[in-house]
Amino acid sequence: PLEPMTVSAMLDNTAARFSDRPAMSFLGRRWTYGELADAVGRAAAGLQSLGVRPGDRVGLCLPNTPYYVIFYYAALKAGAVVVNYNPLYVARELHQQIVDSATTVMIVPDLAAICDKVLGLPPDSGLKRVVVCPFADALPATKRAAFTVFKRSLLAHPAWSEQVVSYRTLMAQGGPAAPVAADPSDLAVLQYTGGTTGLPKGAMLTHANLSINAQQTLHHMPSMRPGEERFMAILPFFHVFAMTSVLNASILAGGELILHPRFEIDAVMRSLRRDKPTIMHAVPTIYNAIAARAEQHRVTFPSLRLCVSGGAPLPAEIRERFQKLTGCRVIEGYGLTEASPVVASNPPDGEVRPGSVGIVVQGTQVEIRGIDDIRRILPPGERGEICVRGPQVMQGYLNREAETRAVFVDGGLRTGDAGYLDPDGYLYVTDRLKDLVICSGYNVYPRVIEDALYEHPAVAEAIVIGIPDDYRGQAPLAFVTLRPGEAADGETLRDFLRDRVSPIELPVRVEIRDSLPKTLIGKLSRKELIAEMTALYAKQTSQP
Ligand code: ATP
Repeated sequence: PLEPMTVSAMLDNTAARFSDRPAMSFLGRRWTYGELADAVGRAAAGLQSLGVRPGDRVGLCLPNTPYYVIFYYAALKAGAVVVNYNPLYVARELHQQIVDSATTVMIVPDLAAICDKVLGLPPDSGLKRVVVCPFADALPATKRAAFTVFKRSLLAHPAWSEQVVSYRTLMAQGGPAAPVAADPSDLAVLQYTGGTTGLPKGAMLTHANLSINAQQTLHHMPSMRPGEERFMAILPFFHVFAMTSVLNASILAGGELILHPRFEIDAVMRSLRRDKPTIMHAVPTIYNAIAARAEQHRVTFPSLRLCVSGGAPLPAEIRERFQKLTGCRVIEGYGLTEASPVVASNPPDGEVRPGSVGIVVQGTQVEIRGIDDIRRILPPGERGEICVRGPQVMQGYLNREAETRAVFVDGGLRTGDAGYLDPDGYLYVTDRLKDLVICSGYNVYPRVIEDALYEHPAVAEAIVIGIPDDYRGQAPLAFVTLRPGEAADGETLRDFLRDRVSPIELPVRVEIRDSLPKTLIGKLSRKELIAEMTALYAKQTSQP
């Protein structure tokens, strides 16, 4: 049975059970659960000494490091709400999110690129304290050269001295943290999503949402051995997929987190052999990159027992290639920020159906509703909008009542994704409704065309978008990158598509590029190509 609990209780329970087992490792250093729980207690006391009270917002603007793990649980232990920030945000994005969420304390690494942005924010942002963690110290000298370190002497700068606190000072406040009354129904994390249209919205996730989703994730992996697994942490924790499926799941299962501050293919290939992870979560572009390297160097990873892919559709071709080369199974799952995020996953020990994102996780219901009539629930086999009900579904978007109302229908969450259920309850995600291209009144789903492009042996990555078309309203345009050593031109690839997609779906052009834009977690991103093409067309039409 699923048990709603506070996120901090998950760590407390594991620390009591597995005190001497490794909880995380980073650049050759290991922390046991006992050491982690101790650091979390001191950091929570430190945050309290800065004035953090239950309900206050603590921002984490950190890559995957021990500091992220410590402050995530420390903030929650102090009853605060964690707000995740992408360290690569530009100052304007940081500012918007700080104001919207009312973040008062921010935790950052001592990298000049991040400190300068955060400390340079206008005073009206409402940010009161910045805790600077000695990330650069932990790096080997060769790596340190790549970063500009924020000078500790600057901590004493008069303009900042009031605002800035060093990690060491904070941790020396002495503990233990004053106990706070916490309930699983309390808000735990504000997770920002959906910058495609308008400003990002903060999805309100409670302790219960998150602790239950971590349990749902583990229930789906009955072969997990408590206290024995090693989780490869390459996806950033500030993204909801890794926060739940890697960070919280590993802590709940007594696993060891192998922390990677960023995705760097050489470091990942080395770590896969040296650190012997048993479980890896990644997005399709990462599986693609690892498979390419494994092919080049003919390496396998015998320690890996299970790989999970999510965040974007996993092309069958990539899955098969990765499995064949590495000897490890890849299971696809599906989720979204608003559902903490996991909704469905292929059962690792049961039947995996190709093309399906698996069966709905425990305690969760999926309804497929009419795209033209959202009130209508469709029978199995019919395609419509995927709607989700379950204990992991968010409470709404912070400060956005209208958007919150619009995203729920009869109490179910509208995902904005199209798909269907088969008679056995396997879910298929066919497309993102927001990516729909309308050609001559017909609905064209980019994914269908992308999947067809992936069948060509020379194609490494593909993105299809809609561009304005005088006759048809919109028309599909394809962008691809090629596998190393492969050659093909756009016209050949377009001819290849003729037998595979309908004439309406045939792209006006297939453009070969050296690289394709990716989102910050490495998902292929249509957004930037759409912006580029929109600008191009605007320029063309404004020319005399
Ligand atoms: P942003 O927050 O920038 O708008 P996003 O819309 O991708 O990004 P996320 O919550 O990060 O929001 O991602 C959830 C979306 O990712 C889902 O709604 C779905 O479209 C897509 N997705 C996730 N997993 C899969 C999968 N296995 N197959 C197909 N699509 C997936």
